[in-house]
Amino acid sequence: MTNEYQIRVLPEVAAQQDRLKQLLADEYGLRMNEIMGIRILKRSIDARQRTIYVNLKVRVYVNELPSDDEYQHVDYPDVSDRRQVIVVGAGPGGLFAALRLIELGFRPIVLERGKNVHERKKDMANIARTQQVDEESNYCFGEGGAGAYSDGKLYTRSKKRGNIEKILNVFCQHGASTAILADAHPHIGTDRLPQVIENMRNTIIRCGGEVHFQTKVTRLIIEASSDPSKGRGGERVIGVETVSTAPILSEGVGETAFFGPVILATGHSARDVYRYLAEAKIEIEAKGIAVGVRLEHPSALIDQIQYHRKEGRGRWLPAAEYAFVTQVEGRGVYSFCMCPGGFVIPAATGPEQIVVNGMSPANRGTQWSNSGMVVEVRPEDLESMAVANSSLSAIDSPLKMMYFQEQLEHDCWQQGNRKQTAPAQRMADFVNGRLSFDLPKSSYAPGLVSSPLHFWMPKSISHRLQQGFRQFGKQAHGFLTNDAVMIGVETRTSSPVRIVRHPETLQHVRVQGLFPCGEGAGYAGGIVSAGVDGERCAEMCAEYMR
Ligand SMILES: Cc1cc2nc3c(=O)[nH]c(=O)nc-3n(C[C@H](O)[C@H](O)[C@H](O)COP(=O)(O)OP(=O)(O)OC[C@H]3O[C@@H](n4cnc5c(N)ncnc54)[C@H](O)[C@@H]3O)c2cc1C
Repeated sequence: MTNEYQIRVLPEVAAQQDRLKQLLADEYGLRMNEIMGIRILKRSIDARQRTIYVNLKVRVYVNELPSDDEYQHVDYPDVSDRRQVIVVGAGPGGLFAALRLIELGFRPIVLERGKNVHERKKDMANIARTQQVDEESNYCFGEGGAGAYSDGKLYTRSKKRGNIEKILNVFCQHGASTAILADAHPHIGTDRLPQVIENMRNTIIRCGGEVHFQTKVTRLIIEASSDPSKGRGGERVIGVETVSTAPILSEGVGETAFFGPVILATGHSARDVYRYLAEAKIEIEAKGIAVGVRLEHPSALIDQIQYHRKEGRGRWLPAAEYAFVTQVEGRGVYSFCMCPGGFVIPAATGPEQIVVNGMSPANRGTQWSNSGMVVEVRPEDLESMAVANSSLSAIDSPLKMMYFQEQLEHDCWQQGNRKQTAPAQRMADFVNGRLSFDLPKSSYAPGLVSSPLHFWMPKSISHRLQQGFRQFGKQAHGFLTNDAVMIGVETRTSSPVRIVRHPETLQHVRVQGLFPCGEGAGYAGGIVSAGVDGERCAEMCAEYMR
């Protein structure tokens, strides 16, 4: 027999199976030896009051062994002799599209410009050592995409529970802890996610799909459509041209073409893809983004603030999270992608730019907690925005938000001594418009350099951040402090471009056989939503093939 209960317990009880078992036995009149197992179905922390509780939904197995159906298993058939679909990009969008194509009986050919998830790690470690960024293998490019080395947060604002649960279950099938199915704020961790991604790749290959690393798509192969009524202008994509990004000996070596309809899941940092689409007159449009800084506090301080107690998280609670949001002069100012117990990392994808982001290990155990602190920027805002050395106001291009990102990242690199050493300022100094004479110890491995961010960042951003920080400091006593450091700049919060697609068929609005997918196309913002969009694109592509 199984019984399900909704209970509220202290953190030390929630964390220890024997104490939880005792409590359930006492509370529900069960004998200890009758309880054969307990499965936690939902878990959330309630830290609103002085006494912190954990809310649990548990299933108790009474005189019955727990079943082994902890997650829903997907059967992936052999698709070796089936029709093929090209999937560009092995981020969550591309990987979930590939797996869904297999489920639907199609053979995915995944093309990825970067290296496999383990090899790319060396290139990321080299950034701090050499102060150089490999343009094809970095925190954004390579197997697993932008989220492979991240906090691996798996929550999303999307409301489609069914789709989200499918993504979480597929992660579990490939080695993620089943805790992600129970936690209100699930995360995998940068130390665990790479193995899960490798397992997903192995499923694709075992079923007859292909995964090509260091294979960069440079061009779509487009032909006149036989049915012009289906596409304005009557064009359709029938494949892609690629070059090898591995070191090659002579020009032209490594150029290949792959044929099939294309799911384009190249992420928010593939600026060469956006440039190509603009030049080829494949409809794209400028999209709003959010830009700002990474803010890093000692994790002990965040724990004290969020758990309202001097001793902080203690033994049984996880590193505390926070989320702030406000409006300043008509634009959102908010915390983004919070990484408790994590690191700030260099996420640039090319030379002469600094971009920061964050990640955490599974145990969220470092001495720092960071988040993006960003201000919403809309395409129409550029006209009033003074950015050094730029004539952005004159630009009437679908790439204008991307140019804005590039400009800010380049300014940041100049402020950071033209290396990956990032310009930084203590938080209270920033709010008060003062240069920091020194900086606190930080997790950012390439190093920090003191810089007046309040002075050189666009005023409409620095001013709103200052106002926002004042408000957040009032909401959470101790949050606005010089023990926290702001590190510039966080610009890759979402795609600066939308590749315009039909809302139902998910095909490009004009060019048939092209399925813009995931974050880079402007239809997702995070690992789970990119995965959901990947699955949807695969389904629509299967319809198209039929
Ligand atoms: C450091 C960091 C931490 C993050 N943390 C989180 C988090 O904790 N939780 C969360 O939900 N989200 C997080 N994100 C955001 C998340 O990673 C993205 O939203 C998600 O990865 C988008 O998935 P995608 O598949 O659309 O694109 P991407 O993951 O960006 O994947 C695109 C892939 O396409 C490849 N590619 C690009 N151009 C080409 C080409 N021309 N040819 C072939 N391949 C190409 C790239 O190399 C890349 O692998 C984080 C992002 C970063 C950078």
